[in-house]
Amino acid sequence: MQEGLLIVVSAPSGCGKGTILGQILKDEKYYYSVSATTRTPRKGEIDGVHYRFMRHEEFETLIAENAFLEYASYCDNYYGTLEKPIDDALTEGKHVILEIEVKGAMQIRESRPDAKFIFIAPPSLETVRQRLILRGTESEDVIAKRVEQAAAELQCKNMYDYCIINDVLEDAIADFRSIVRAEELKINQ
Ligand code: 5GP
Repeated sequence: MQEGLLIVVSAPSGCGKGTILGQILKDEKYYYSVSATTRTPRKGEIDGVHYRFMRHEEFETLIAENAFLEYASYCDNYYGTLEKPIDDALTEGKHVILEIEVKGAMQIRESRPDAKFIFIAPPSLETVRQRLILRGTESEDVIAKRVEQAAAELQCKNMYDYCIINDVLEDAIADFRSIVRAEELKINQ
């Protein structure tokens, strides 16, 4: 069986990437990599589904054991991708989606040069702020920090293979599918 594609997706928070990926992941050819994190769960988040929530000590033990394909610190918490489930899914022929921030993505550029890198950008920073306010899951301080972080991350979009601007949701989803289809049809991966 042919191996699946390793697809790295980054987007500043408040870009609507969760909504785009929610639609994409309805197709069973995709496997969503559930990250480990030390951040506290938001309302409605389920351990093992949205993240594997863990304490700092547990995360650091996994770092020491070399269990992570990549990990990074973001807004005062650790986030990381466990390597084993990724490799199993790729071998099964699934397209694996990693939804990770920029520092982690660049680690994967080094270790997995065959991975495909997609950046999802907002139409403007103001839309990021508005979406975070509407989501209502973060305090004013955290929103300000995340908007600042979004501005910094936008500077990194040129390090990716593709950039999708999430203005009209349906268009962004269609763009995502087109990119994956083109990669599937590529003769020389
Ligand atoms: P949030 O706290 O909003 O769920 O995620 C914050 C940021 O961490 C997002 O940019 C998200 O993509 C990123 N992130 C989630 N999981 C991982 C991971 O496993 N590794 C890295 N490097 N970033 C991650």
